[in-house]
Amino acid sequence: MQQTAPHIGRAHIVGITGSPGVGKSTTTSALVSEFRGRGQRVAVLAVDPSSPFSGGALLGDRVRMQEHATDDGVFIRSMASRGHLGGLAWSTPQALRVVDAAGFDVIIVETVGVGQSEVEVAAAADTTVVLLAPGMGDGIQAAKAGILEVGDVFVVNKADRDGADATARELRHMLTLGERVEGGWTPPVLKSIASRGEGIGKVVGAIDAHLDWLKSTGTLGVRRRRRASLEVEAITVARLRARLSVVHGDDRLESLAERVATGELDPYAAADLLVDGLS
Ligand code: GDP
Repeated sequence: MQQTAPHIGRAHIVGITGSPGVGKSTTTSALVSEFRGRGQRVAVLAVDPSSPFSGGALLGDRVRMQEHATDDGVFIRSMASRGHLGGLAWSTPQALRVVDAAGFDVIIVETVGVGQSEVEVAAAADTTVVLLAPGMGDGIQAAKAGILEVGDVFVVNKADRDGADATARELRHMLTLGERVEGGWTPPVLKSIASRGEGIGKVVGAIDAHLDWLKSTGTLGVRRRRRASLEVEAITVARLRARLSVVHGDDRLESLAERVATGELDPYAAADLLVDGLS
């Protein structure tokens, strides 16, 4: 990590998230082709927040990436994040650092949208692309999952199916209702048919435009500092947690817990003792 530190900050980190089956792997593969066509080197980190094993069930089929398997300018790796301390927030930034330092121009972080993972992937990325598919009140689901706030570019994939225009309209409407904290960027809502590569050029155009906006407004620096701060915090918390219980071979947490359980100590006093014992 010490050796990679001076070499980071060059890559554009693009997060892609959405429900299972919405077309993330297909879109990612099409995006890789588009970036490669411009001569850019691309890395793909597929992070599965639901599985402790690499290549878990929710990860899109890596077979869809096979066409890039022999391309030297493409690096693809699946990662499982459950089971790591701090989950996505802890493990992903470290993988990103290594890939960034290795000189890739674009890093795509693909994550299945379950639970908090969209919000976490957005925190790890410079630009977050949220993928939806027509039908089933997607806009409302999007609002519930909190992705309206985190998406920088919205893509209604499977536009060959009925209802794509309605979903896009609904989404645009919901986006105008929301108050965005960082003013100035209006997230575009695009349509694509990833399986045919249609609309992918426009998605890349929107990703580029968002990077330009991040740079010209200074937001890129703000986001990256925020990311660094979260990363340091996650590592610190993990270290503290490791030190909390066993200090000098003595299980302090366990003995304090016993005193709290018997009513000898209140939990706040116990926490103070534990924190004091850390320094
Ligand atoms: P993921 O789970 O989000 O990664 O989704 P996948 O990329 O694995 O795609 C799920 C299924 O949808 C696959 O069978 C794809 O071939 C199909 N698919 C992807 N994009 C499109 C599209 O634009 N239109 C249609 N009709 N099917 C698509």
